[in-house]
Amino acid sequence: MADPRHKRIAESITPLRVKPGSSVNLAKDFDPAFKIRVKKKKQGVERLREGVELLSEYQERLAAQDTHGVLVVLQAMDAAGKDGTIRHVMSGVNPQGVAVHSFKVPSAEELGHDFLWRYQQRLPARGEIGIFNRSHYEEVLVVRVHPENLDRQKMPPESKRKGVWERRYREINDWEHYLVDNGLRIVKLFLNLSKEEQRIRFLRRCDLPDHNWKFSAADIRERAYWDDYQEAFSEVLSHTSTPWAPWYVIPADRKWFARLAAAAVIVNTLIEIDPQFPVVEPEARSRLAEAKAELEAQAPKGAAPDPFADRLAESSSDGVVTAA
Ligand code: AMP
Ligand code: MG
Repeated sequence: MADPRHKRIAESITPLRVKPGSSVNLAKDFDPAFKIRVKKKKQGVERLREGVELLSEYQERLAAQDTHGVLVVLQAMDAAGKDGTIRHVMSGVNPQGVAVHSFKVPSAEELGHDFLWRYQQRLPARGEIGIFNRSHYEEVLVVRVHPENLDRQKMPPESKRKGVWERRYREINDWEHYLVDNGLRIVKLFLNLSKEEQRIRFLRRCDLPDHNWKFSAADIRERAYWDDYQEAFSEVLSHTSTPWAPWYVIPADRKWFARLAAAAVIVNTLIEIDPQFPVVEPEARSRLAEAKAELEAQAPKGAAPDPFADRLAESSSDGVVTAA
């Protein structure tokens, strides 16, 4: 535990983790309005700012080390705040190191392949953070709640028989295990919204003209399946929270808290990876010295051989670092 901030962050997210092997009843076990430690929005926003800074710092190291990737999986009911969470949590991160993918209704080409195919294509490379805005879990959520989706997948009849969901949980767990073995860390976040808060957020989308575009009639149709989704989510959390890729249930009724909690889980994962800037080998260091001598020799008449070194010496004597 090299980073002193690790203990505080790790402890704060423990109550959100779904214990592998536990049987989850979402409505009973997790409160969408739950808050831990941080009680006030102002303090929460300040903590999020710190989290965003940490994330940026660790992302740079993740890219430099180039051995591990991080996959963030976001699942939720409509209006739970997936997009806002991505926007806020990733606001300080170098865009080159992050890729967000939103998964919609599968295309004809995607339906022509096995159910994990399209997700495999979008995985982050080593050194990258990938975000799945909806994910392979839709294959056991929307597809389960509306089984006609399964018919569209053109699977042979024997693959669609009873037990298909249990089989998919196992296949997802195995796939994730394979990815973790290959250096990917998987952060699974379920934004847990209450039915009443969803109603209020939908009304907001109806009432505010510049939010109208976010509203679709399909959202109301899906809301009618609320209980089926709660059940499907409970099953997913019970069967796919594993030691190698556990689920975190993020209380989502307060947006500021959801963003803070999501940032904490992602930062915690990066701290656990503890990526380091590569140390330059002695041979490369002597090549650096040679290059430096050569560049110094190219100084125009009257110019300092290494103006940067002069600036560095100046700023370190001022106690200020100005590397630019
Ligand atoms: P949105 O995220 O609001 O843009 O909506 C995307 C839509 O795509 C949602 O209604 C999802 O239920 C749907 N969707 C995502 N993945 C799948 C899938 N694998 N099969 C069927 N529908 C899906
Ligand atoms: Mg939608």
